[in-house]
Parts: sequence; structure tokens; C-alpha cells
Amino acid sequence: MSVLLLLTTLACRPPTHPAAPPPTGQPRAHPQGQLDAQPEAATGCRTDIVAEQSAGAMVVSAHPEASRIGAEILRAGGSAVDAAAAMAVALTLVEPQSSGIGGGAFLLSYDAETRQISAWDGRETAPAAASPDQFMADGVERPWPEVVPGGLSVGTPGLLRVLEAVHAEAGALPWSELMAPTIALATEGFEVTPRMARSIRQWENAMDPLRRHPGSLAYFYPGGQALAAGDIRDNPALAATLAAIARQGADAFYTGPIAEHIVAAVQGATRNPGRLSLDDLRRYTPVRREALCLDYRGHRVCGHPPPTSGGTTVLSILGLLERFDRAALEPGSAEGAHLFAEAVRLAWADRDRYLADPAFVDVPVAALLSDPYLAERSARLDPAQRLRVVEPGLLQTSAVDAPACPEGADTTHLVVVDAAGNAVSMTSSIENAWGSGIWVDGFLLNNQLTDFARTPERGGVAVANAVQPCKRPRSSMSPTLVLDPDGELELLVGSPGGSRIIQYTARVLLDVLDHGSSVQEAIAHPNLAQTSQGLELEDDCGTPGWSAATVEALIALGHDVVRGSLNSGLHGIQRIDGAWVSGVDPRREGVAIAVP
Ligand code: GLU
Repeated sequence: MSVLLLLTTLACRPPTHPAAPPPTGQPRAHPQGQLDAQPEAATGCRTDIVAEQSAGAMVVSAHPEASRIGAEILRAGGSAVDAAAAMAVALTLVEPQSSGIGGGAFLLSYDAETRQISAWDGRETAPAAASPDQFMADGVERPWPEVVPGGLSVGTPGLLRVLEAVHAEAGALPWSELMAPTIALATEGFEVTPRMARSIRQWENAMDPLRRHPGSLAYFYPGGQALAAGDIRDNPALAATLAAIARQGADAFYTGPIAEHIVAAVQGATRNPGRLSLDDLRRYTPVRREALCLDYRGHRVCGHPPPTSGGTTVLSILGLLERFDRAALEPGSAEGAHLFAEAVRLAWADRDRYLADPAFVDVPVAALLSDPYLAERSARLDPAQRLRVVEPGLLQTSAVDAPACPEGADTTHLVVVDAAGNAVSMTSSIENAWGSGIWVDGFLLNNQLTDFARTPERGGVAVANAVQPCKRPRSSMSPTLVLDPDGELELLVGSPGGSRIIQYTARVLLDVLDHGSSVQEAIAHPNLAQTSQGLELEDDCGTPGWSAATVEALIALGHDVVRGSLNSGLHGIQRIDGAWVSGVDPRREGVAIAVP
């Protein structure tokens, strides 16, 4: 493949909003198969997945070693929160392209005794020295691939602080025990997976984040050769970092030598030097928020509120579709796909207009999810044809006083239920694959600030998601929990996938709740996503893809259909007849482990 083709494939992230081009009347195959603007390239279509079942506890994560560690923690008497924290730390080592302690996370935690859901925001923040025009040059926004690598895109990491906070509330094992399995694995070495090895090579011709930074180059290209699948790689620097964190808690990361190394690497980056300071790290604070819930056909579906757009937009899509008799439609039908795509377009117009960090912008979440508003928006949805134009709804918002800085991706999804029925659904990210490419003390730093709009205003209107000091960039991460009519947990799900996360998650919820699919069937079903490229339909991936008749019918309804691979990483757990049943995405390398 030529360099140019790869650049087109991998480097065209934004825009992803679903303002589709005019329909052409023909399905288009994406030239490289891999649809543009996905944070990680597709790497798999497994056919060997068998759903696990457990009357006790269960973990599902994107990597076999992380799941093994999560199961070990549960067997040792750990809670769901303990297992989630240990798995998130393990993923720093074994899935470094996607998440880690140099990034952030959103998580929902369910308390089986009180049946309460807590939402925890460990999103990165912009440095105090950030400015709205930091991604502009000569009055125009700099191209996205130019600003991803280096220090300017690095937000203050939130993962360890949020894990520490949720552990303080719902942990059962000592904090140091959550670090121990990863310290051991980093010391012994882990086996590089095909997905990780492939991702190293894939990004060489697009942005090349790893070879630009001496630390990443040395770690991922030992002896000058890229790590290959099957190689055993140790990470003594990470083992030392985690040993300090085990002893001193997250303070070991946010103050002292590790913090100094982070700041030096960000500010001293040869390309795009950044503005992160020791003060930014010292005062980072996770936020406990109220989970956002909506009743859908008798189920209570709960997501994470802003600054992620995930919860609000997933719930909007469901709310817009509730009046339709979707149960009468087959999961792969053209009618169902049409309604879904149109609901996405309506919800997305509001997402783009209104959603951002609520500490800085008045985000009208309650209005967006109110019955009258959803009914009025849903009435626009025409089952017989695609709407020509979709505008955001007109909602009143008031000014918010931007707070002073508080004193004080790529991406992965994991789910866990413990023996007491407590649960965690958590999406964790360093943003794009390999984040900023900056390597410090055994881990990669995120490029999450590129989730801000790079332009502070459009057409004279201030952009809600513009960069501001200490603000959290808008996310799409959508960790979700569903409660049954008795208030008991029945489903956990979420995914990576950039802004397509919302659609992957909503589709699985609809397949389970409307069509009665198991979570494994729903996850394996071909994806669809309405984006700026058109209505993207996934090619066959383990299960038969969209039929020719469906594609034809969608074109007749006015859709511009694009075929390609849609790289979700959906992981879920569902309660079926009193037992927990797993859902693992065949497109990645995830593993479910039942703990009896
Ligand atoms: N940075 C993205 C977000 O927060 C996630 C990217 C990904 O899925 O890889 O929404």
C-alpha cells in the first residue's frame, strides 16, 4: 500500500459528525476497506468466541492478561472496583496502544446493596496555560494529524486519580495489591499480541508517533526492529512506576519525580511542545457525577453525563426510537437501520451544538432528554425517507462562569461483576492509537486535547467544545448499565471507536432490548454508523454482513451507503435467567473469564 493511501486511511480522523454527503444511489466500497476516522485500524474477525456463563462473578476486557488479572483479583476477594482498577492498570502494559495511566477514563459503578449507580469522571483536563487558539496557525486550524503527536495535545491524565477515588469508596483489597500482578508481569515480560504488533506498523506511515520519541522508539523498536507478535517484552520502568504508586498511592504519579518527568517530556517535546505543568498534575481532581438515566421500554438505561457526550447521545437515540415498533423488525432490516441512522443524525445535531464540559458551558441535558423534546424531535423522523437536512433543536442555554483552575484513547472498554453483584462498566483511553507518542517512565501520554474543537468559533458563534484552561475535552465514551424493572442490574456494555462509540453502544442496547438478542449475538452483529462519510455498513466479520437487499432498500430510502470495516471493541455482560453471560467483540482480542 502506498504511503498516500495509508495516510488517507489512518490520518483523517475528524470530522465524524453525521452530516452525510448527497446520496449517489450506489453503495460505495471504501477504497481501503477500513473506513476513515477510526482511532485504531481493524485487526480481527474471530469466529471462535463462545459466551461464558457464571452464577458468581465475571470479567471481560480487551486483553487475555488483563482479564486474567481481573479474575485473580476477584478470586482473592476483591470487589468489582478492585478488579476494574487492576485491569485498567494491566492494560497500560499489555494494550499500550489504547489506554493506560497516561490517559483518562469514565466509569459507572453499581452497588448491589443500594442499587445505586455512581458515575466517575477521570477525564483529562487542559493545562492552566492552554488557550482557545492553541491548535490554530495564521487564523486557521492546524490539520489534526499535525497536532496529535508531541506535547501540545497532552491533557492532565486522570486515570489513577479516578481509580484511587472509586477504590477508596468501594474497594475491598488494599490498593497495593491491585498493582502487584502488573508489576510482576512487567518484570517477567508479556507476549506481544498480533493486534499490538500490527498497530505499531500501521502507524509508521501515518503520524509515526512512536519513532518520533526516543523513549517510545527504544521500547517499541528494541535493537531497531519493531516488536512483533509473539515477542516477549518486559517493562522495568513501568514496574518501578507502579511500585512507587503501590507504596505512595496516586501521589507518586501526580507529584515528585514521575510528575517532573511527565512535565519535562511534554514541555520539551521537539514537535509541538506542550504546556502541562507540575501544578496541573498536582491539582488534578476526578469528579463524581450523577449517572444519567432514561426509561426505555421498561428498562432503566444509565450512562455517563458530560463532559462525555456518550450517555446523553446514546439515551437521545433510544428516546427518539421508542415510539417505533422495532421489535417487529429484524435486527438487520433496512427499516431498522434507516430509523437508527436518522435518530443518530437528529441526536448528533444536538451533540455537536450543545455538549461540552458542563463546568464551562451550560449543557441542557435535562431538556435534551425530556419527553416533550424527544417526542417533538422524533416526530420529524420519517420511516419512508431520509431527511434532507437535520438541524439542532432550539434550546435556551445560559452563560456559565468558567471556573478557576481547581486547587487541590485509543481506548478500551471493560466490564466486571463481582460475587455480591456489584459491577463496573468502564471506558479508558489515551485517545488515538499510541496517544501523543510520548513515553515517560514506562507508559504513553495521551493526546486527549485533540478531542476539543480546534477552532474557538464558527461563523461568529462560540464553539461549546473550544479549548479553555482546565476544561475537559468532550468525549464519546459511553460506559452503560441497564437495570430491569425491579431495579436490578441486567446489562453492562460499552466500546472504544472514537465518535462511533455512541452508535456501537446504542446498536447493541437496541438489539438486546428490542430484538431479544443475547449480548454476544448483539456484539457480533454487523455494525452500522452514520457519519460524515455516509451510512457505513460493516462488511462480513465472522457473521454475515448486511444483505444486498438491505443495502438496496437503504439506498432507495435516500442513504449514501459506504461499505468497510467498523472497528468496535464492544464488551458486555448480561444477566440471563439468573446467570451472568459474557459478550466479547470478535473484532479485537478480548477475553471473558467466569469466576464461579
Ligand atoms: N478520545 C475519544 C473519546 O474520548 C475516544 C477515542 C477512541 O475510542 O479510541 O471519545
